[in-house]
Amino acid sequence: MAVTEPAPVAAPPAHEGILRRQALRESAARTYARSLPIVPVRARGMTIEGADGRRYLDCLSGAGTLALGHNHPVVLEAIRKVIDSGAPLHVLDLATPVKDDFTTELFATLPRELADDARIQFCGPAGTDAVEAAFKLVRAAGGRSELLAFTGAYHGMTAGALGASGGAPEVRVTRLPFPQNYRCPFGVGGERGADLSARWTEHLLDDPKGGVPAPAAMILEPVQGEGGVNPAPDEWMRRMRRITQERSIALIADEVQTGVGRTGAFWAVEHSGVVPDVMVLSKAIGGSLPLAVIVYRSELDRWQPGAHAGTFRGNQLAMAAGAATLAFVRENRLAERAGILGARMLARLQALGSEHPSIGDVRGRGLMLGIELVDPEAEPLTVTAETGSAPPPDPALAAAVQQECLHRGLIVELGGRHSAVVRLLPPLTLTDEQATAVVDRFADALRAAERSPSRRAVAGPTR
Ligand code: PMP
Repeated sequence: MAVTEPAPVAAPPAHEGILRRQALRESAARTYARSLPIVPVRARGMTIEGADGRRYLDCLSGAGTLALGHNHPVVLEAIRKVIDSGAPLHVLDLATPVKDDFTTELFATLPRELADDARIQFCGPAGTDAVEAAFKLVRAAGGRSELLAFTGAYHGMTAGALGASGGAPEVRVTRLPFPQNYRCPFGVGGERGADLSARWTEHLLDDPKGGVPAPAAMILEPVQGEGGVNPAPDEWMRRMRRITQERSIALIADEVQTGVGRTGAFWAVEHSGVVPDVMVLSKAIGGSLPLAVIVYRSELDRWQPGAHAGTFRGNQLAMAAGAATLAFVRENRLAERAGILGARMLARLQALGSEHPSIGDVRGRGLMLGIELVDPEAEPLTVTAETGSAPPPDPALAAAVQQECLHRGLIVELGGRHSAVVRLLPPLTLTDEQATAVVDRFADALRAAERSPSRRAVAGPTR
């Protein structure tokens, strides 16, 4: 009997093998990779191409990093220039022409009052490292150690390294209510809710029996990103500035995600005119490469040499890419463009909200947009004067919408307290047509997810 050759088994496409090996070899703590099973091989502007040849509009933008989208020509050119020049790529925190240019460009964008009297500390390359630096700075400057932070805040993931090195003072944080219109903790929303949040802060700080020792600093995000896209009202920001100033508490603005034009102003603090004592900057300032700094009033510069160190504080390619990005955003008024396009997208999403009871709230500033998905058939959780009843968040629907978006070639991020907020962080360079396509694909995905029986799938973590 003739032995027949077994039919050749078709090899699985390369991207499937890569995804399978990732699932086998990478950590259980991996995040985006779970909900976005794609293998990017090429990218330009807002478009990512997967190893399977599919193309996606990217509204995640490296978690808000890519102000100019992927591989912008001015960014690539700046990187190539450094490489071709023969300049050293690793220099710790030594002075270089590249760093000098970056600092000059960054200072040119800062609020004048701060820029005229600012110092900069280059930190380890992640936003969280710059947040740590900011805390050390204000503690060294004022001798106080306690911190004020807000509900829903996200400032990073580091914990313990300094403790393990034997040099960490205990971190005590007093948590204050961040104003939220939709799920106002005081049940009123709007200006009244923001006023109550400010009053609570004032009262707690001035109450000798409040249990809050005089803090070194207050840290806040002008628009909370990971917390679910919650813009701080401008008047509330000014109140926080007054409250901190009157009590000699340093105000730290974490602009890691809101910076470089994203919210419609170059820095989000500009909307309110608030000049913070310290600004924490990362993500977009590195032009898609890792870079993090703090800039602060020179008066605070009282820490010791080596008070905040790190091997990778001198990333020359990131500084060159960052300087090119900052200059491009400034010269092309992309912050303004983000404001205009963002307002247009917000209006369209709000109109969509009036057709879909599963859209509980649409909010944002500039090109930092959030759509909170809810279960309209469940018992309302809170009642606010402004918004009426607010049904509970629907993380399963949000996860289903994210998957339906992906099927339609749109990458979106989830965030918020319950991972029920679909977040849009497109690059500031997106065209009118792309903005329309994003909303169209989202609307289509929402309709499909609402119909889908699988929408009860368990939502995973998103960061
Ligand atoms: N602050 C804010 C406001 C952020 O959004 C983030 C990251 N999402 C961080 C700090 C931490 O930055 P990194 O992930 O680079 O440590």
